[in-house]
Amino acid sequence: MCSNCDYTIHRAHHHFGWDRSIPPVQTVAPGSTVLFECHDSGSGHFTPDSAVADVSTLDFSKVNPVTGPILVDGAQPGDALKITIDGFQPSGFGWTANIPGFGLLADQFTDPALLLWKYDAASMSPTLYSDKGKVPLKAFPGTIGVAPAEAGTHSVVPPRRVGGNLDIRDLSTGAVLYLPVEVEGALFSVGDTHAAQGDGEVCGTAIESQMNISLKFELIKGANLAFPRFTTPGPVTNHLDIKGYEVTTGIGPDLMAGARAAVGNMVDLLGKLHGISAEDAYMLCSVCGDLRISEIVDMPNWVVSFYFPRIVFE
Ligand SMILES: [Zn+2]
Repeated sequence: MCSNCDYTIHRAHHHFGWDRSIPPVQTVAPGSTVLFECHDSGSGHFTPDSAVADVSTLDFSKVNPVTGPILVDGAQPGDALKITIDGFQPSGFGWTANIPGFGLLADQFTDPALLLWKYDAASMSPTLYSDKGKVPLKAFPGTIGVAPAEAGTHSVVPPRRVGGNLDIRDLSTGAVLYLPVEVEGALFSVGDTHAAQGDGEVCGTAIESQMNISLKFELIKGANLAFPRFTTPGPVTNHLDIKGYEVTTGIGPDLMAGARAAVGNMVDLLGKLHGISAEDAYMLCSVCGDLRISEIVDMPNWVVSFYFPRIVFE
């Protein structure tokens, strides 16, 4: 399955919270490359036959399973775990949902909604959105992290100093991620694979898609990182940039309110330009539009922009 992988971690070895007491399923030496069979963030709840009613039966105790943990030999608190994203084996099926109570505009989008995606796993060419558009793809793991030092089980949903549900779409093939190690052996796990997501993941879900992922592990001794950092091997938005963007803004003294306004204004604009429902526009914003802080110094008002790639509807 992975020609250069030293180990495979099967998807049966997964867990639902970060906890330093979970026994490692494999010990690997620095320099190893490991293939992880990941679940999607819904633990396989959605299938190509799913309907919107299935959003209501999603079991929240089973969201965001992560495969692992693996113990990296010699990793000590204060080290950085260096993870090179080696490659993906995507499944070709994905889903995006508006889950009531979750998402940046949860107060405005109170009904469940669901988009199903079928894509070419070999080419990762853009996937069709109904007959109206197509969304460029780029695979990455939404959740990638190591065990926190603090004892007990910690929810997978919030990201942490040690990584976790980072949802950084630029952690794609070739990226190198550095995570602060807090426990002996690091205890690394990964999951929540995505076929596409914009910066912000505004509706709360990306193109959630089951994939396997291969990762190479190295150690940087005594790095004393405060927070995760990463390097990308090249440009990160070539797949979105070529036709330009529609951009909306939200302006005011509160970045969260500004972000909400910028996204809400884009939902309205996409409805006007392309005749799509507000729910679909909101989910499309989540899978391929980017929130940006354009300005955070001209007090008292900050500018948040939302960039939607025009290539989707060209
Ligand atoms: Zn996800």
